[in-house]
Amino acid sequence: MQAMVLNKIGAALEWTDLADRLPGAGEIRVKVLACGVCRTDLHVVDGELPHPQVPIIPGHEIVGRIDAIGAGVEGLHFDERVGIPWLGHTCGVCPYCIAQHENLCDRPIFTGYTRDGGFATSTIADARFAFPLGETGSDVSLAPLLCAGLIGWRSLVIAGAAKKLGLYGFGAAAHILAQVAKGQGRSVFAFTRPGDVATQVFARQLGAVWAGGSDEMPPQPLDAAIIFATVGDLVPLALKAVHKGGRVVCAGIHMSDIPSFPYSLLWEERQLVSVANLTRQDGLDFLGLVPKLGIVTRTKSYSLKQANEALADLRAGRFEGAAVLVP
Ligand SMILES: [Zn+2]
Ligand SMILES: [Zn+2]
Repeated sequence: MQAMVLNKIGAALEWTDLADRLPGAGEIRVKVLACGVCRTDLHVVDGELPHPQVPIIPGHEIVGRIDAIGAGVEGLHFDERVGIPWLGHTCGVCPYCIAQHENLCDRPIFTGYTRDGGFATSTIADARFAFPLGETGSDVSLAPLLCAGLIGWRSLVIAGAAKKLGLYGFGAAAHILAQVAKGQGRSVFAFTRPGDVATQVFARQLGAVWAGGSDEMPPQPLDAAIIFATVGDLVPLALKAVHKGGRVVCAGIHMSDIPSFPYSLLWEERQLVSVANLTRQDGLDFLGLVPKLGIVTRTKSYSLKQANEALADLRAGRFEGAAVLVP
């Protein structure tokens, strides 16, 4: 197998030949067909998450086909197309797992962060955390659903029944979520980097009723807002944009420090919450909804060897939608 390996925090990924691996008990081996590039991959490369460990193969939006099955695996078959998400394993016995909050597991393993991921021609996964994808949709178009789509979905559920929904940061997650929200009859207000007219046009094409800079106030107060951008300065701005009782959801795994703000922005039962990881049920709920809502992802494909270029383009905001690596 070949992979783009992170050998040193902050360094470029390196193209590497590795020995083929065999799945252990309860595991599958998947031939990677496409792997999306997520903002979290940048956090892994930059060492912004706790306990950075190298060498590691990043990538947690994996679409592939099973080409080897370990002992004891049930419900999956050879050559089946599956998706492998960020949540790669949970302990099953901690208080969070027992309470159906496996996204908060005390001893989780994360794909592309604490176990090798999909910036590779092949990967090993815990079979219980792989989603059967069926045969509808291209490998590349499905890849961004595995994290951007899933985390967006969990954020939307936590945002509640908001009719007027703000999305701060209109990248991979928001471009999927805008379509979901519109399909559910909500009105989407898209906030981009100030002056990023191209992304504002893109947001309106996907059905946003309003698009503007994150330094602007929406034309009417919002019921809820989801912050996908990793910028803590957006928190007080989003609180200002929601009305009394409104909710602001921080969807990122990492964010720059939130500046202090007057209590009046939180007063009147506004809520500020975060979303962490996903549960397998989130995946089943969301992936079941995708064909019904006719979600179309906008992707930019790169070869696996171009992973560093894809990460650099993501960092600089040089494309709309989501980047996907194809081995
Ligand atoms: Zn657990
Ligand atoms: Zn991700």
